[in-house]
Amino acid sequence: MTLATRPLDAALELARGITPQLAELADPIDLGIEPASTAYALIRESGLLAAMIPQHCGGLGLDFGSYTELLAELGAANGAIALGFNMHNVAIGSLFEADADALGENGIAFREWVIDQVVGQRRMFASAASEPATGARLRGISTTYERAPHGYILNGHKSFVSLAGVADHYVVTARPADTDTDFEVSHFVVGADDPGVSFSSEWRGTALRGTSTAQMFLEDTPIGQDRLFLAVEGMSLFKVVREPHWMAAGYLGAYLGLSRAIVAFATAHVANDERRRSKDTDVQRVGAMAVSLQATQALTVAAARAVAENRSDPSTNEMVYAAKYHLGETAQSLASQAVSLVGSAAMAADGPMQRLLREVQFCSIMPAKPAECLDYVGRTQLGANMFDVSNHGW
Ligand SMILES: Cc1cc2nc3c(=O)[nH]c(=O)nc-3n(C[C@H](O)[C@H](O)[C@H](O)COP(=O)(O)OP(=O)(O)OC[C@H]3O[C@@H](n4cnc5c(N)ncnc54)[C@H](O)[C@@H]3O)c2cc1C
Repeated sequence: MTLATRPLDAALELARGITPQLAELADPIDLGIEPASTAYALIRESGLLAAMIPQHCGGLGLDFGSYTELLAELGAANGAIALGFNMHNVAIGSLFEADADALGENGIAFREWVIDQVVGQRRMFASAASEPATGARLRGISTTYERAPHGYILNGHKSFVSLAGVADHYVVTARPADTDTDFEVSHFVVGADDPGVSFSSEWRGTALRGTSTAQMFLEDTPIGQDRLFLAVEGMSLFKVVREPHWMAAGYLGAYLGLSRAIVAFATAHVANDERRRSKDTDVQRVGAMAVSLQATQALTVAAARAVAENRSDPSTNEMVYAAKYHLGETAQSLASQAVSLVGSAAMAADGPMQRLLREVQFCSIMPAKPAECLDYVGRTQLGANMFDVSNHGW
């Protein structure tokens, strides 16, 4: 296959090679008839794991803006798989945004190891941050690390880990065992087969079975010094405050894709019904849904492009939180509009709409939650210094 030259076009071409199969798998995976690993095997084989890796290192070289558009393409076909795939990129995406000059020798070696794992070995990463007592917040976590002669020993319990049993490496947040500090959080890479690593059975929620989510336990897990993320300790909280886009909004594209699928479903239903197709009120309801989708899409893509062009700028971060809020509210509103427009056919157990309706609810559960987004935007508008950690819930 000849790849198009623009990074996003090349990535979309790869995605469109698998989206028909991902779409076919959405209901069987949701129903537990097919394992999510079937879909992730397609992602692995497609070459999309290297989406964020620079082209000169063998990757697709996407920035956050084009990544969000890629994720929307995947999310329209299969939202749960797009959300799982996003966790791979949340885990490693920031590595390729960092300025190489600021990394230092060990940071560069770490980044080269990740590149080899992803490009050379097609290995998948996951992000294990959330905990039972603190949710997605970084402050107050109970997972700890102790320094050992050649690295670290980790102990802890992570409550929700997407790609459990699918990913090869898990990027785990932990704080030093010998202090009570809230602020010194670091990221470490733990292998699926490392000693002391285990997973619970899969989380059974009302939707998103395709994320393959489970609890993760670390019991005296030893890891090498070279598995400290970017070879820097204690910077995770400060990083998320300055550059919240991966944690707060990495998955925007997935929910945008789900929103597109909802509008497409409702539109097709009206289009296929000759009587309704020519009824003004139905035409206008389709129009209203399309307008809402276009508005939230414009904000989402603008925020994602702002990250690519002006990362870490206060106005960019404000837009990121605004987009997260707006998309979450709009996706849920579109889902209920689709149900009321389409009627009982939307709730048929063997149709996609009842699944889409369940899936979009999760946008308000995943960080940053709606109230946190409004809090961020409100504080920014009122002149607060949003680079001050104490102004954040993280
Ligand atoms: C399908 C799915 C996949 C997920 N995948 C991942 C993943 O791959 N990686 C990952 O890290 N996470 C993942 N998550 C977790 C997600 O990001 C949230 O952390 C999680 O859903 C918690 O949300 P909640 O509304 O249940 O809890 P929250 O309301 O966030 O609360 C969780 C805990 O924190 C406490 N708490 C609430 N507010 C505060 C506060 N202000 N200060 C201190 N404590 C407080 C609560 O009492 C509660 O015990 C996933 C979640 C789902 C549902």
